[in-house]
Amino acid sequence: MAQMTENEIKDIVAKVLGQMQSMKPASADWDSTQYGGRKFIGIYEDMNEAIEAANRGYKAVRAMSVEEREKIITEIRKLTREEAATMAALGVAETKMGRVEHKRLKHLLVADKTPGTEDIVSTAKTGDNGLTLIEMAPFGVVGAITPSTNPSETVICNSIGMIAAGNGVVFNPHPGAIATSNYAVDLVNRACRAAGGPDVLVCSMKKPTMESAAIMQSHPLIKLLVCTGGPGVVKAVLSSGKKAIGAGAGNPPVIVDDTADIQKAAKDIIDGCTFDNNLPCIAEKEVFSFDNITDELIAGMKRAGSYQITRAQADELAKIVLVEKTKKDGTTVKTVNRDCVGRDADVLLSKIGVSVGKDVRCIIAEVPFEHPFVQEELMMPILGIVRVKDIDEAIDLACKAEAGRRHSAHMHSKNIDNLSRFAKAVETTIFVKNAPSYAGIGFGGEGHTTFTIAGPTGEGITSARSFTRQRRCVMADSFRII
Ligand code: NAD
Repeated sequence: MAQMTENEIKDIVAKVLGQMQSMKPASADWDSTQYGGRKFIGIYEDMNEAIEAANRGYKAVRAMSVEEREKIITEIRKLTREEAATMAALGVAETKMGRVEHKRLKHLLVADKTPGTEDIVSTAKTGDNGLTLIEMAPFGVVGAITPSTNPSETVICNSIGMIAAGNGVVFNPHPGAIATSNYAVDLVNRACRAAGGPDVLVCSMKKPTMESAAIMQSHPLIKLLVCTGGPGVVKAVLSSGKKAIGAGAGNPPVIVDDTADIQKAAKDIIDGCTFDNNLPCIAEKEVFSFDNITDELIAGMKRAGSYQITRAQADELAKIVLVEKTKKDGTTVKTVNRDCVGRDADVLLSKIGVSVGKDVRCIIAEVPFEHPFVQEELMMPILGIVRVKDIDEAIDLACKAEAGRRHSAHMHSKNIDNLSRFAKAVETTIFVKNAPSYAGIGFGGEGHTTFTIAGPTGEGITSARSFTRQRRCVMADSFRII
């Protein structure tokens, strides 16, 4: 994919900021219903109305041929490519998280590598008793909850897959990314209209809340819930009593053993860890490296744009990036400081009085296993590095850090026994060998992309077929041609 230059990025950010004046960016509440005076299609104040509209969209899609559906998807891909930079700049401006150029690349990835209707494959079984046909049918209206970390990327990726499967969709996006998410909802509806589809196919809320999510979760027209977010929301949809796909939190460990190409491993890890400032749930979060190559690995990471802080500085920074939150029952938990998530490395370093230039893209620190830089999913360009004596200790600690989330894990090694042992032990949905983590979602690696990686419920790298239900039709004793 072609890279944008710094000046091109500055131009697009200036243009988007100009258009956003009308969205009142200075106020706490963003206007999630228009961009630059263009009113968004499919945005509702009431969740019940949004669901009814999505149901009308679903009925219109049901009446379409697969070819007509694919035309809508082709148009979504086209608009996503054309407006990728705008959505990237809007996402960073609204959420204050991530990097414009990386978000642009994520949109291009969604446009190019999210499967469409070709993903829906029927199967047939023939035998002495005739023919049985199994087709993948839509659920109806899907209720989708989307995160703040990949807001428009997830809305578009989900829309392509869910529409390809023949569903209507209603979104309850993250309130902190509502303008960006609704921009994407509008884009899908514009594409739908341009391709001759219904006026409104996918819907969203003007102001999504926990209450609107609760209405969605209990509404009889919602037949499938698809939730992309942290552990709280996955638990909520899995307790809803409806069929649910849950794409939850990760804390991906990386092992580097002493057979790896250490310089390549160092660069790959920093490239993956810093992509969109570590917002992707698959991104490298902590490293377990063999003691005998750790100095070389750290030197390589520094050459790749990292700044190493001391243990004392790591402790000081940990107290800033994690804050105590009091739960409803009065107990306290450590949670990430939202003012630090997805921020640039130099901004985070400035919080502990370290001044570096913009060229520093990652903060690295040697820490013990118990340190928050290892245990917590920070979603910041901060990488804790733990020295291990051998592969047994590496696998043991890496599995403990992943903590049964079954999300993602990565390894740099040329020892196939070590690679196989870790892959088997960690049981993650994604396991990347000798590449940056994003190879696991098709960015520089084979295979389709998704921004909804469903580990807890097992759909894995979701695609159109994940949003279908099986139906069987039996013709007894006939319809064979042999
Ligand atoms: P978040 O959990 O704060 O929010 C996700 C969505 O859930 C938002 O729309 C939010 O409003 C909603 N929500 C939260 N609690 C809810 C509840 N009880 N009922 C209904 N809705 C609720 O997540 P975020 O900060 O936007 O995203 C980051 C998290 O999501 C990380 O943990 C990351 O690993 C995870 N994530 C996972 C995937 C994946 O594919 N597995 C993809 C992206 C993000």
